[in-house]
This record gives sequence, C-alpha cells and structure tokens, in this order.
Amino acid sequence: MTTAYITHADCLRHDMGPGHPENPGRLAAVNEAMRSAGMLDRLRCLEAPLADADALKRVHHAAYVDSIFETAPVEGYLQLDPDTVMNPYSLAAARRAAGAGLLAVDEVMGGGAANAFCAVRPCGHHATRGQPMGFCIFNNIGVAVAYALEKKGLERVAIVDFDVHHGNGTEDLFSAPRWQERVLMTSFFQHPFYPNSGTASPARNMINLPLPAGSDGAAVRSAVVQHWLPALEKFEPQLILISAGFDAHREDLLGGLALIEDDYAWLTRELLAVAERHSKKRIVSMLEGGYNLAALGRSAVAHVKSLAEEDLSEAA
Ligand SMILES: [Zn+2]
Repeated sequence: MTTAYITHADCLRHDMGPGHPENPGRLAAVNEAMRSAGMLDRLRCLEAPLADADALKRVHHAAYVDSIFETAPVEGYLQLDPDTVMNPYSLAAARRAAGAGLLAVDEVMGGGAANAFCAVRPCGHHATRGQPMGFCIFNNIGVAVAYALEKKGLERVAIVDFDVHHGNGTEDLFSAPRWQERVLMTSFFQHPFYPNSGTASPARNMINLPLPAGSDGAAVRSAVVQHWLPALEKFEPQLILISAGFDAHREDLLGGLALIEDDYAWLTRELLAVAERHSKKRIVSMLEGGYNLAALGRSAVAHVKSLAEEDLSEAA
C-alpha cells in the first residue's frame, strides 16, 4: 500500500494576478520540494480528474456552480470577491482541485493507496455553499466528504483542518442538520483573525479551537491532545480528511502562529494512529494555504513523509 500524490498541471495555470500571495509558485514549490526530497519516486503519482457539476452540487447551491461554469472568463480576469480572482485557466484548476479529492477517495476506498495527498490549488476551505471567498472557489474537502458519504456508503467521516485560518466554508457546509450526525470537524485557527468566524456557538459537530497569535507547537499539541483526539476517538471516523494548510508555520508571515515542520509531522502521526484504529488507515489530505514558499515546501514534505512512512514500517 502506498501514498497517492494527486496533482494536475492545470492547477499551475490558475493565476490571480501579479503580487497575489496565492500564486502558481506555491504549487511549484511543493512539487519541487517533494522531488528534491526523493519523495516522488516513492509515491503513487496520479493526475487529478475534472470534477463534474453534479459532484460540486452535492455541497454547493446548484445556481452557484452554474454561475461559476457560465461566467468563467475566456480572457482576462474576473474578480469574484476582494481576494479571489479567475483567469481563463481557473475553472479547470478549480474542477481539478475538487476532482483530486474525488480520486483520492476512490484510491483509499478501493485499495489503490493507503492514504493520499492532493497537491492542488485553488484552495477550498473558505468557499461556502453559495459563495467564493478567501482564494477559494469550490470547497474541495467538502466535495470529497459528500462523495464519500453519498457514493461510497460511509456512515461517518471526520475533517481535520490545521490551516491558520478558520475553515468557515467547510463549517458552513457541514453545520447543516442533515450532516451533523455523519461529519465531525476538528480545527484550530488563529483568533481573532480572518475570516473572524468559528467562535460564535458553532454546531455541535464542530470542535473549534481558537488560538491567540504567537501560539506555538507546544500550545497546538496540547490543544490537539485535549480536544481533538478524544472527540475523534469517540466519533470513530471511517475516513479522515485533512484540510492541510501550512500557513500556521512560524516563517509564514500571512499568519501569526508559530508551528514548525516537526509539528506537522507530529500531527500527521497522531491522525495516522486514529486512522489505524478506526478508518482502516484511510486518510485523504488536501492542500489549503501556505504562503512562505520555503516553509510550505518543507512542511508539505514533512506531512507527506509521515503519511508515507506508515507504509515503510508496514513493509519492514
Ligand atoms: Zn489559510
């Protein structure tokens, strides 16, 4: 059993204009860091398919999906919100980003891989049922969760979000009563901070841990041990999906937390232990934020190495 690495060249063509922090260089940095760490030879490298409208409409309003498909620019830029822009490649990139999650679910459910990392952009966790937001067009992780529940026969799926920003879009999707029994979301995020959500009486399936600016790995680890792990153990997820943003890294100046690569490796190992007990080791991880290119590359490698090391210990 291997770790799948799912990406697509279309995700490198989505560009929101000069000077934008969420730029193609981010994905290039992740790919290059994986290559120079010798990871690509060890991973099952796959191309992300295009998610179709029906897959996106499991979590997004049909009118929203239709409007993105219909208004996507054929030239120039289209401004969706103050931070989110489409160029002529963005629709394909957004469909590949969501499609990567669908393929990752197929891989881990079908036994093609033990777990999977989707190196994709645009990111997804700020996109709500009916709105793009904060560099996100479609909610990639949400689309994968709904696919696992509605098409793969799973009863319970957990989402873990360790991006520095609160995943308000994912919370919006799965706070709906019809999902509450079947989806548990655990997250930590800097607070107060963009998008200033996650603290006002979240739904009971949301384990939200707001952390003050400056919180480091020790603070995060203790919060995870105290709040995330017991909730995950009790929930017994049949699949764990990770919104893997690396902008809580201390070198990432877009955020103000102070994690290092080792913290991402530790988090990943803790989640692997939960997956070992409850979800037949099935984990699907999807790239969210991370804006310091060097820290992003090193952190993504630490995360994926931990996912893949599970296989090495198995082989030994
Ligand atoms: Zn973020």
